Amino acid sequence: MKMRKVKAAVLYEIDKPLVIDEVEVPDLEHGQVLVDIKCSGLCHKQLEEMTGKRGNDPHLPHLLGHEGAGIVEEVGPSVTYVKPGDHVVLGWMKGQGIDSAPPFYSKLGKPVNAGWITTFNEMAVISENRITPIRKDMPFDVAALLGCAVTTGLGVVSRIAKMEPGGKVVVFGIGGIGLNVVQSAALFGAVQVIAVDVNDDKLALAQCIGATHTVNATDGGEIDRVLELTSGEGADYCFEAVGDVRVMERAYQVTGSKGLTVLMGVPKSGDKLCVDPIPLYLGRRLTGCHGGDTVKEEDIPHCVDMYLAGKLKLDELITERIKLEEINASFERMKEKKLVGRSVIEFD
Ligand SMILES: [Zn+2]
Repeated sequence: MKMRKVKAAVLYEIDKPLVIDEVEVPDLEHGQVLVDIKCSGLCHKQLEEMTGKRGNDPHLPHLLGHEGAGIVEEVGPSVTYVKPGDHVVLGWMKGQGIDSAPPFYSKLGKPVNAGWITTFNEMAVISENRITPIRKDMPFDVAALLGCAVTTGLGVVSRIAKMEPGGKVVVFGIGGIGLNVVQSAALFGAVQVIAVDVNDDKLALAQCIGATHTVNATDGGEIDRVLELTSGEGADYCFEAVGDVRVMERAYQVTGSKGLTVLMGVPKSGDKLCVDPIPLYLGRRLTGCHGGDTVKEEDIPHCVDMYLAGKLKLDELITERIKLEEINASFERMKEKKLVGRSVIEFD
């Protein structure tokens, strides 16, 4: 294969803007796939990596991005799940296929690291098991969203909570995953979906994709408001998507006597949760989850079908569409909490 050079947003230093650079793409090895990336979403996880919230980073410099969509350009040895020309969703979760070694890109002979998936580069070498083929009539911008938050939200509702229709639902924290828990709860026939956040724009977006009620928690009165809305009984399903133990305690407090509290946000390490355990003996349940136990081969094509049938709202989740060169400004807005929905990179 001739040496390819592609444009990429590279993290060279923590707490510094990404550098739009040209990197050399390595030859494909066992289980690797070269994908022409069409669109990529920006996720909060990358902001955490860029700002060092995830700790010391021994892999610098490296590429980033873990949700996207594109077209398979070439496949490496032993790849059988996809073939050149396939339209694919790219996501960080493992699915069918080979778990390959991560690729090593380079810049002027120096290594530029990458994980099993990166999407802030025009073309990417991706592990076969991070790729899911989809229908060709699915637009790439909305397909990119299926790599992370949408499928996680759906999985949390269907596979973790095993939600039954007719329930009352509360979602604390209307970020990428919270929004999709709202939407999935509505799709699963919840009679009441209460969205709680401190940002009115996010609450308005939640309402547009399925929330029946919204509560702004800025004044600290959210427990009373939720109890009032649920006739004093609390909700059947309460989801915490903030990653703050104090919010987790509130979610538990407004869960009904036979209800389920699901903790999705990841708290700071060392933080302790303080709850009254007595309701647990009487039927209330409390659980955590890492992702939504997504089965990509089933859930991603299912989301595509639902979107194309007009049932799943994805366009509404995209707040801005940017060029790769505008990526730092978008992360800046995310940092300042001015980004309401998803920012999506559209590659030329
Ligand atoms: Zn993500």
